[in-house]
Amino acid sequence: MKASAASVAGFDVARVRADFPLLARRVHDKPLVYFDSANTAQKPVGVIEAVDRYYRQFNANVARAVHQLGAEATSAYEGARDRLARFINAASREEVVLTSGTTQAINLVAWSWALPQLQPGDEILVSTMEHHANIVPWQLVCERSGARLKVAPIDARGELALDAFVAALTPGVKLAAVTHVSNVLGTINPIAELARATRRRGIPLLVDGSQAAPHLAVDVRALGCDFYALTGHKLFGPTGTGALWARAELLERMPPLFGGGEMIDEVRFEGTTFAAPPHRFEAGTPNIAGFVGLTAALDYLDGLGHVAVQAHEAALLEHLTQALRALPGVRIFGEAAHKVPVVSFLVDGAHAHDLATLLDHEGIALRSGHHCAHPLMRFLGVPATLRASLAFYNTHAEIEQFVAALTRVRRLLA
Ligand code: PLP
Repeated sequence: MKASAASVAGFDVARVRADFPLLARRVHDKPLVYFDSANTAQKPVGVIEAVDRYYRQFNANVARAVHQLGAEATSAYEGARDRLARFINAASREEVVLTSGTTQAINLVAWSWALPQLQPGDEILVSTMEHHANIVPWQLVCERSGARLKVAPIDARGELALDAFVAALTPGVKLAAVTHVSNVLGTINPIAELARATRRRGIPLLVDGSQAAPHLAVDVRALGCDFYALTGHKLFGPTGTGALWARAELLERMPPLFGGGEMIDEVRFEGTTFAAPPHRFEAGTPNIAGFVGLTAALDYLDGLGHVAVQAHEAALLEHLTQALRALPGVRIFGEAAHKVPVVSFLVDGAHAHDLATLLDHEGIALRSGHHCAHPLMRFLGVPATLRASLAFYNTHAEIEQFVAALTRVRRLLA
C-alpha cells in the first residue's frame, strides 16, 4: 500500500483527537506531536471523567464495607475484571488477576508459578527482543532455583527465528515467555503458531501483551497461550493498572505471592486459608480509581473498532517508514513483515539523546535510549535508538511535521 495522507474510511481522526485533551496542548510554544505512546498512551476524556466521578461520587474501599458506597466501589472494581475478561475473550472472569501492570503480572507468574517447581538445570525460554520486565523476573527465579535462562534468537529483520524457537523447546524448558509485540522493533510475533509448538510439548507459554493490546484485538483463547500480561497505561487507561490472564487450572495451582487483606478465606494465628483465584493474588487495597478508568478506556477502544484503528495505524506506519527511508543517513531497526506503528531508528552522525532533545524543542515527544531492552540493543550493536511510537490518535500531518523537524534539527548537529 502506498503511503497516503488521506483518512481511512470510517475513521475520523480529528474527532478522535478531540477526545484527548492533552493532545491540544503546546510544548515549547509549538503544537505537541506525541510520538511516545509505547511509553505511555494519552487518555481520552471518558477515562479522566470516570476517575473524577469515582472520587466525587463513590470513593470507598472494596470488598469490605456493607454500605452503599462500598457496594458501588466493589461493583465498579469487579466490573473492571468483567470488562478485561471480555476485552481479551477470557473463558471466565476468574481467570483475570488485576495487577499494577505487566511487570507485576510477570513477576507473579515467576515467583508463584515458576519458582516452586523449578529445579537446578531447568530452563526458561525467552527471546532476544524482550523488555527487561520479561527477562529480569526470570533471572531472579533462576538464581534462586539453579535453573537457567535460554534465549531464542531473532533475525536481522527483527523477526523471531521460528525454527530456532521450536528447536529450543527441549524437555528441560519449563516455560516459554515471549512478547506479543516488540516495544523497540514493532514486530508482531506469531503467538498462535508459537503456542501450537509449546502446547505440543506440554510447555506453558507466557505472552507479554503490553505493546500488543493497544493495537491488536487480543483473543487469548484463539492465541492458545497460557498466561497473558498487559498494562493499563499503554491501553489509554490510568497508570498502576494491568492484568494477568491465566488458564484457570494454572491459577488454581499457584500459591499467593503477597499476604494481607482481601486475599484470605480464614486467618488464625495457627495458620491461614486463602481465597480462590483471582482474589488470592490481590492482597491489600487495589487501585480502584485506576480500574474504574481502565474500564472506560476499554469501552472507548472497543467503541472505535479494531478494524478501523488497525487500518489507520497501518497507513501511519507505512507513511512514517517511507518518509524515514527517504531521508539520507537514517537507519531503521526492525523491518518485520507484521508490525505495529513503532519505528526505531538512528541518524548518522547524531546521538539519539541529542536529537530527542532538539526534537522536544520542536514540540515532538519521542523516546531515545535503550527502551528497557539492553540485550536487544546489544544484538543491534547500538547503545540506544530513537523511537517514534504512534497510536490511532496520530495523523499524517504530524508525520510530515516530525520529518520536517528532524531534517531541520539534524543540520544543527552536522
Ligand atoms: N513489556 C513491554 C514489551 C513493555 O513495553 C513494557 C513497558 O514499556 C513493559 C513490559 C512493562 O510495563 P509496565 O511498566 O507498565 O509494567
